[in-house]
Amino acid sequence: MVDLAGLELKELEDFVESLGHRRFHAKQLYRWIWKRGVTDFAQMTNLGRDLRAALGTAATVSTPEVVRRDVSEDGTQKFVLRMADGRQIESVFIPDTPAQTFCVSTQVGCAMGCAFCLTGRMGLVRNLSAAEITAQVRLLARTLDLLDKSFNIVLMGMGEPLHNYDATMKALRMLNEPVGLALHPKRITLSTVGLVPMMDKLAQEPLMPNLAVSLHAATEETRGAIVPLNRKYSMQDVIDACKRFPLAKRRRIMFEYVMLAGVNDSNEDARKLVKVLAGVKAKVNLLPLNAAAGIPFERPDDARVNEFAKILVDRGLMVSVRKSRGRDIRAACGQLIVEGQGRQSAAQRLAAEL
Ligand code: SF4
Repeated sequence: MVDLAGLELKELEDFVESLGHRRFHAKQLYRWIWKRGVTDFAQMTNLGRDLRAALGTAATVSTPEVVRRDVSEDGTQKFVLRMADGRQIESVFIPDTPAQTFCVSTQVGCAMGCAFCLTGRMGLVRNLSAAEITAQVRLLARTLDLLDKSFNIVLMGMGEPLHNYDATMKALRMLNEPVGLALHPKRITLSTVGLVPMMDKLAQEPLMPNLAVSLHAATEETRGAIVPLNRKYSMQDVIDACKRFPLAKRRRIMFEYVMLAGVNDSNEDARKLVKVLAGVKAKVNLLPLNAAAGIPFERPDDARVNEFAKILVDRGLMVSVRKSRGRDIRAACGQLIVEGQGRQSAAQRLAAEL
């Protein structure tokens, strides 16, 4: 059985032709799957009976199963999804930010092992396929009745998207396909912790999403302590890659900065951060920590966050402070974890894979 959920339009055309049918039917099929969220071939009424029968015996459209759906008091919804092999991931719907936003996973777990992140605690279990990445969007949009509305995607769920580069890029092409959801790259934000060679590769892509970089510190020493990848690609390497990254007019790189009380939240850190970002078209998103059991850091109080933000703003940086969403259902940044999936040492994985 061929899984049509993972095929780009061109691949779908080849497949339809291999069944002895005309290529243009692939567009109809793609539209059914991606624009209308229909996966049952019998319901695809503008396809001929022969083609529907052939599809029924030769193809499938895989869709993860919703194991759990939690709705926060602020409207955020967390979906726990089970893949065909039983592995589970989480996807989050964040309403009105100001658009509707889906936070999508690219891996089961994550190898990067950031010290403040529950997903990092899982280690990398496996990469998601393009079918599994895009299926999260299709499933959430269909469930929430948003298939024909505009929404944004942030690749900030479980995993480091650039550590699963090919599947992530294929997923972006599939979501961008005009016959399907036609999601403009401006509506997609890819977040990386700083895999420098992959950032340079991304810079060559014809389809360029917005870039967010998880910086989280203003000195090499602090970053090295909380982001293990900094030992391979230093903060300066990451900043240099950002300076090389081609940006369209009026676009900026979003630097995410998780604020950890007593670790990276001093006035001195703020002043250093201004220097680090000098010469980069930057905006800074301050993320006061979402404290959780097992995470050995505290959230700074609001006064500290505000003073830190003020120093950045006074020196000309664009700054936003995240209003945390979905904390009551553990759907906030750094809180995505699916228990019991075979834990590995993140540090070991990282050393072996990079
Ligand atoms: S913060 Fe992002 S890159 Fe770091 S461990 Fe968590 S999911 Fe991975």
